[in-house]
Amino acid sequence: MSETVAPLVIPREAHPISRRNISSAALKVLYGLRDAGFKGYLVGGAVRDLLAGRQPKDFDIATDATPEQVREVFRNCRLIGRRFRLAHVVYGREIIEVATFRANDDDGSGDRETQDDGRVLRDNVYGSIEDDAVRRDFTANALYYAIEDFSVRDYVGGYEDVLARKLKLIGDPEKRYREDPVRMLRAVRLAAKLEFTIDESAAAPMPALAPLLAGAAPARLFDESLKLFLAGHGEASFLGLEAHQLLPAVLPETAEALRTNRSGLLRSMVLDGLRNTDKRIAEDKPVTPAFLYAVLLWPAYCRELARLQAQGLEPAVAQQRAADRVTLHQAHRIVLPRRFSLPMQEIWMLQPRFALRQKKRVFRTLAHPRFRAAFDFLELRAKVAPELAADLLFWRDAQLQAPAALSESLDQGGLGLDEAGEGDALAEGATGEAGPRRRRRRRPRRGGPGAGAPA
Ligand code: ATP
Ligand code: MG
Repeated sequence: MSETVAPLVIPREAHPISRRNISSAALKVLYGLRDAGFKGYLVGGAVRDLLAGRQPKDFDIATDATPEQVREVFRNCRLIGRRFRLAHVVYGREIIEVATFRANDDDGSGDRETQDDGRVLRDNVYGSIEDDAVRRDFTANALYYAIEDFSVRDYVGGYEDVLARKLKLIGDPEKRYREDPVRMLRAVRLAAKLEFTIDESAAAPMPALAPLLAGAAPARLFDESLKLFLAGHGEASFLGLEAHQLLPAVLPETAEALRTNRSGLLRSMVLDGLRNTDKRIAEDKPVTPAFLYAVLLWPAYCRELARLQAQGLEPAVAQQRAADRVTLHQAHRIVLPRRFSLPMQEIWMLQPRFALRQKKRVFRTLAHPRFRAAFDFLELRAKVAPELAADLLFWRDAQLQAPAALSESLDQGGLGLDEAGEGDALAEGATGEAGPRRRRRRRPRRGGPGAGAPA
């Protein structure tokens, strides 16, 4: 563990990081390490965010103490991880992650394995602070705030890049993406979150290397997708994925459906949905992966459904099969846990039911546990499909009525029920151009199963 290169040292008076903006738990860990004779640095996203003028969501610490030594310093510490051991120091609800400096052993002499394509399979060696800096992804993520003198230490030019609000990979971009293709998604996500630009050198290899994401673990991509889309900057993330041609690697069938949807209405709906989600997060309202994926995979679902219906499948059968197929195919890239994929499908399956106004059905739909989410989804669809306006009005009213009053209005055909009968407009989906043009199918006026063409 030797330091070979002197870092650029930015003294306290030259940078804006103040201890007031560092959590007291993180400060306790930093001081605890120092008092025990070890080095302790705030590192990674926290330093980057503080320099960029944002409040970090967590504070990670790097140290020259081994995990076992960290545990000896702090009673409130547990060690986690098998592949690479980390120390978690716990203060109430706050957990401070403490990582021993790690080496990125590129000469093959250490405990590190790579695949033929350069992907890292395993690395498990401690190193110097400089080693620890260069194995990180972006220069902006490799800055160290030292508690001993409150300076920032920069081994890779990250300080300048943060000030320029630029994401630059450390080392050769293509090599770094090959080692870990998820870094491409991290670039898009961090650029969206921080309103940084991705340096040309980091952006250029993306389109060609995007297919490497197929080799990333689908469960890891699910986690990464939540950071992309459920962290308050989902719309910007989506635009970033599009701009760097990563969308087909992440959401292949949705990307294809958007490509063939000439009106662009499906894309508008997805962007609307993401914008709504961002707004909800900004307002501290709850958001769910089920609803998010109902939005993200809706274009894929519409496309598959159109295809199955063109083959003459019964609408109800086609709907379930389309939902299952889209879920299954998507799982090759991003695997949704069933607790999210099932409600996602329910949101879709409820859409055609909004066209049904028989009293019994109305009450059943209202009582469905996914009604509210499905209604919100209908609202999104209605923004790009004006013919859904009547349905939207009906269900908005229906929710507000007391059951007895609702029952009475339904008996009288009230509640904005239009003369034309329910849901006819649904059959000709405004955004359903992806497949062959659907013929308007004859179906019973009320309550038939065939109200299901998506808009
Ligand atoms: P966020 O604010 O979203 O948490 P972050 O940069 O802190 O962003 P983390 O996933 O928490 O992201 O990672 C912490 C640090 O670990 C990063 O700042 C970076 O230095 C390093 N890191 C994370 N993922 C990678 C990766 N795939 N390759 C190299 N270094 C990584
Ligand atoms: Mg972090």
